[in-house]
Amino acid sequence: METSKRKDQERAFERFASTHVAPYADQCDREERIPASIIERLGDAGYLGFGIPTKCGGGGADSIAYGLLHRQIARASASVHGVVNVHHMATVPIARWGSRAIKETWLPRLVRGDLVAAFATTEPEVGSDASAIQTTAKPDGDRFILNGTKKWITLGQRADVFLVLARCEEGPTAFLVERNTPGVEVIPIRGLLGCRGYMLAEIHFDDCRIPSENLVGRAGLGLTHVFSVGLDVGRYGLAWGCTGVLDACLDASLQYTRRRHQFGVAIREHQLVQQMIARMVTKRRAAELLCTHAGELRDRRDPSAIAETAVAKYYASVALGAAAADAVQLHGASGCSSDQPVQRYMRDAKIMEIIEGTTQIQEIAIARYAYRDLDRAEPSSSSAARGQAA
Ligand SMILES: Cc1cc2nc3c(=O)[nH]c(=O)nc-3n(C[C@H](O)[C@H](O)[C@H](O)COP(=O)(O)OP(=O)(O)OC[C@H]3O[C@@H](n4cnc5c(N)ncnc54)[C@H](O)[C@@H]3O)c2cc1C
Repeated sequence: METSKRKDQERAFERFASTHVAPYADQCDREERIPASIIERLGDAGYLGFGIPTKCGGGGADSIAYGLLHRQIARASASVHGVVNVHHMATVPIARWGSRAIKETWLPRLVRGDLVAAFATTEPEVGSDASAIQTTAKPDGDRFILNGTKKWITLGQRADVFLVLARCEEGPTAFLVERNTPGVEVIPIRGLLGCRGYMLAEIHFDDCRIPSENLVGRAGLGLTHVFSVGLDVGRYGLAWGCTGVLDACLDASLQYTRRRHQFGVAIREHQLVQQMIARMVTKRRAAELLCTHAGELRDRRDPSAIAETAVAKYYASVALGAAAADAVQLHGASGCSSDQPVQRYMRDAKIMEIIEGTTQIQEIAIARYAYRDLDRAEPSSSSAARGQAA
């Protein structure tokens, strides 16, 4: 797309976010919920189906447009960004792997935002190692019976449907579970450090009878195919979301350091203040370039796109963590007060280093991709032996 059209597109996202999201960012944080009117507006604007292919009724956005939308929404509110991201994490895999019946029944309403979806992998005893899930799905005639608990589920308090990972005989398997299914109990989780509008919940499944047609993809391929697509989409959206919060940190820091005077001058004149600004600018630029690079690879369906998305999420979230801490530092005592948004950015930033794969899990994955590439190019004796053993 031409640069000028891209800029127009980003300006439209920015207008939406500054009009319909930013004014409510503090309220979302304080009340730990997102007003229904914001979710409705996101749906009306087509942003809840923006990343879904047009053949499935979605907006069919290219990866850069999709990323820029995430950036602008997160710049206004990381909590509201979570709605757009998680809804896509559940909906994109349904569009990719759902049966025709599932797509016909659910996708149109999910794409329009009439229904909101959540993505449920984590359990009280299972986090980073999703292959160890304990929630079970046992076949029973034309149904599966689900038992188990999911925890820390974004939008859990609000979602109409959950994409749930449960263990069958064949291995982890994905199911679509309607909120009003008998045996589903939603228990709100409150008091989070950051991203407090996520409307988190713990979800219990107690002998929940799920129609077999709600199985998404094939039994046993839930993690490797269905949820891995959702996590990859989530990492990409989150990486761009981090650039949006980085924008917000920099905007606030530039403004404040111009206004605030100490030692007879605006604090922007102090070189150690300039150092923090310079680091923030550079981190923001590097994160934006990594996100753009990953987006271009995604649009070309390049095999390295998944690895580069992990690199972008890793870098952007760690960079944001450091930049948000500096933003608070630059504001001094004011930065610790709820009168200034930078304390919210710092709390939100910590969450962004944990979700969609923690920093440590990204590091492990990135190193694995690097060795995989080397082993393919130059098989070593140990990698050849591993290949034989497999
Ligand atoms: C605000 C919020 C929203 C969330 N939303 C969702 C959601 O919508 N759906 C969902 O399914 N889950 C959600 N989660 C859960 C999130 O995905 C998990 O928190 C995350 O995967 C990490 O799992 P854990 O918290 O159990 O940490 P653990 O896996 O127990 O890890 C604890 C620590 O050990 C480290 N660690 C673990 N394994 C290794 C290793 N092999 N090597 C090195 N270090 C390691 C981790 O990096 C971390 O620092 C959410 C969490 C939060 C906080």
